[in-house]
Formats: sequence, C-alpha cells, structure tokens
Amino acid sequence: MLQSHDDCGRSNWSSKVKDILYKNGFWICLVTQEIGDVNIFIKMFKQRLIDCYIQNWHDDINMSRRCYHYKHFKSLLTVEKYLVLDIPLTNKRLLSKIRCSSHTLRIEVGRHLNIPREERICIHCLTSRNVLDIDCELHAFFYCCKYNDIQAQYLLNWYDRPMEIPCALYGTELLFQTTTTE
Ligand SMILES: [Zn+2]
Repeated sequence: MLQSHDDCGRSNWSSKVKDILYKNGFWICLVTQEIGDVNIFIKMFKQRLIDCYIQNWHDDINMSRRCYHYKHFKSLLTVEKYLVLDIPLTNKRLLSKIRCSSHTLRIEVGRHLNIPREERICIHCLTSRNVLDIDCELHAFFYCCKYNDIQAQYLLNWYDRPMEIPCALYGTELLFQTTTTE
C-alpha cells in the first residue's frame, strides 16, 4: 500500500527510505526489490553512510572561507588529543576557540562586520610600528609585537624553524594539527 501511495506521488516513510537508498548508490535494491543477506546489507549500508558523511564534511570545510586554517589541521573526524589531555578546561576552551576561528582577532571580527580581508589590519602593529599586517592567527602567533613576551616565553623554545618563513604550512597549522604531540 505504501508503495502504491508513493507511486501516486503521496510521500510517506517508504518514499524517504527509497530516497536514501537511491542517494547512497543502493538503487539496485529498488530495482530488484532485494537486499540479499540482511546483516551484510546493513553493514555495507552503514559504512556507505559513514563514508558519504565524511566526504561531505571534507567538502564543506574545504569550501568554507571561515575554515581557512581549520581545514589544514583538522583532517580526521575524531576527538582531538588536546581535549583528552590533563590540562585546565580553560586552556582547552581557548584552544578550541582559536582552532575554530571563534576569537577576537580582526580577521574574524572584520568578517562579521563585512570589512574586506585586506583591511582587517592589526591596529597595535600599525600604531606602534607603522606596519600594515592583517590581524590573523599567523600574525598573532609569530609577528605581532603585542605578544612578544608570550612568543618568547612559549613559542620560540618550541618552534625551531626560521622565523622568516613561518608560512601557512609551518605556522598555525603546525601548532594545531591533530597529530601534534608537543
Ligand atoms: Zn600586530
């Protein structure tokens, strides 16, 4: 009966099942009205749903302008190591915020205010050194003179690459990638 309703264009739960099977490449089941061994089918279908979800997740973060840095260091859809480390919750929260661009650097604040990217300048460096640098994560971590003391205390002891070339690959991504153990 549900099938005949669906054939008449009346959507019901079987229509949705049909749609899900079709979208995930299991259209042959619709044609043959056969799924073979139920347990094997469920296992295969579950794995297909997981694969499609991960593929869509990768596509979404690669297409998102907001995930400019995030897409480089978040490669696996798993719980991040820093979240299970024995460190204060406040630190975990701060790490999450910087990883997800939920911070108050002008690169992000300016995005909310529709300020063009190239105009989201670090005010501190502009007024103190007359330097026009975009106030992004890379700038804050490696260049901003506002944080010189913090950089010297925490970053320079660990970061052993030449400071002249902390490009995106060796900069903030290295600090936050999933496999970072330091
Ligand atoms: Zn600055």
